[in-house]
Amino acid sequence: MMQSPDGLTTTNAAGRRVKIFPASPPKKGFFEVRRKWVQWGMILLYMVVPFISVNGHPLLLLDIAHRRFSIMGTLFFAHEVPNLVFVITSFLFGIALITTLLGRAWCGWACPQTVFIDRIFRKIENLIIGDHLKQRRLHESTMDIDKAFKLGLKWFAFVLVSITLGHFFLAYFVGAKPAFHYILEGPSEHWGSFFWVMLMSGVVLFDFAWFREQFCLVACPYGRFQSVMMDQGSLFLAYDEKRGDCINCMKCVNVCPTGIDVRYGLQFECIACTACADACDSVMEKIKKPKHLIGYGSILSLQGKIPKILRGRTIVYGTLLSISLFALQARLSARKLYQQDVIRAIDTPYQLVTDPSGRAFVINHFKIEFYNLDWNKAQVSYALSADAIQHGVEMIRAPSSQQAFDVESGKYVETQFFLKVPRTEFQDGIAKSSIEVNWNQGGLKSQSGVTLVGP
Ligand code: SF4
Ligand code: SF4
Repeated sequence: MMQSPDGLTTTNAAGRRVKIFPASPPKKGFFEVRRKWVQWGMILLYMVVPFISVNGHPLLLLDIAHRRFSIMGTLFFAHEVPNLVFVITSFLFGIALITTLLGRAWCGWACPQTVFIDRIFRKIENLIIGDHLKQRRLHESTMDIDKAFKLGLKWFAFVLVSITLGHFFLAYFVGAKPAFHYILEGPSEHWGSFFWVMLMSGVVLFDFAWFREQFCLVACPYGRFQSVMMDQGSLFLAYDEKRGDCINCMKCVNVCPTGIDVRYGLQFECIACTACADACDSVMEKIKKPKHLIGYGSILSLQGKIPKILRGRTIVYGTLLSISLFALQARLSARKLYQQDVIRAIDTPYQLVTDPSGRAFVINHFKIEFYNLDWNKAQVSYALSADAIQHGVEMIRAPSSQQAFDVESGKYVETQFFLKVPRTEFQDGIAKSSIEVNWNQGGLKSQSGVTLVGP
């Protein structure tokens, strides 16, 4: 194996960025043909996801303003910490499992960073300026009218694409319909959303047009963690040095979007884009040598061994993923969209009163909280249960207290009431009673038991 250079290939000794101009991979390369379709499919998916509904709800919505998230049409609120923890752990263990099996296939084939840069931003550059050699020449030339015109046109196109993407990405955060209305109504009606669209467009422009491979190298945590998740059977773009067919043409280096030399072996900068494999295949074809000097392989396959699918890490990550998904499923099936909690108020434990006829009653003070975890506003009312009325229990509410409440989506409403219970209902200082809660959604009725304390 060749000796790997120290430091990043896109940074010089002074720590300054070295701009790279990767060549386009061969158009008819085995991977390039397939990657083109997959990447356009991913672009389409990223654009339409906010517009897809599952059971009438968004497939994915990250409504940070209202602290609620829709994942596969299921609504989660920020205060549902255990449920969100299982969503996040399922996602992380899923990524770990895929990485152990397929390496960084996600980065090279599906990550928004790669697909938008490869299929849109680089294509614009190629169209306006020309191939990688022309781009480098223009970069190194002094400013003149031709350079100013080409750069101006390129950045104008980049800005237009970034603003378009910024509008689409807004739908991820506010939902498809509101985003559509905001766009139609214009910035003067929705300054907040306009600000976020402009911010997102700015981030897209900065990242996809200028920062590019630097994001993968210095900002993305996934690249840094890959070595923890990968093992000797994980796939990566492997150079088969023992074949001895390399003619040192540097085509694999010229096409690399992160500027590395794949012949140094597995490096954290490699995003598994497969461009080097296609470039080398085209060279091997010309010199009439077998293809796949660079191709998908693993450390074990380079040693002539076949990696098993079931191995230490895949078993551990697969087990953790299964546990996490199972726990999430269990929590979701036990989850109630409409909930209420009756709790004793922490003032006087009880009051003893006697009516004019001399009957003794005990009064307890309660708080009741109604939670609405559904998408829409719900109305709720509460009253004594029929059983409580039969036992002579009375409910006393503050005069201002309403009987029915609106509870906004993701919110809770708290109110208070007193229960007046005949003293004869108490045994050993305790009496049981119940109240009935009616949610208007689907005529949902439930009873909440309450425990009263008395003398
Ligand atoms: S080494 Fe090959 S697969 Fe890895 S980033 Fe460079 S060109 Fe892509
Ligand atoms: S493209 Fe193939 S032949 Fe050319 S330098 Fe890379 S590995 Fe060697």
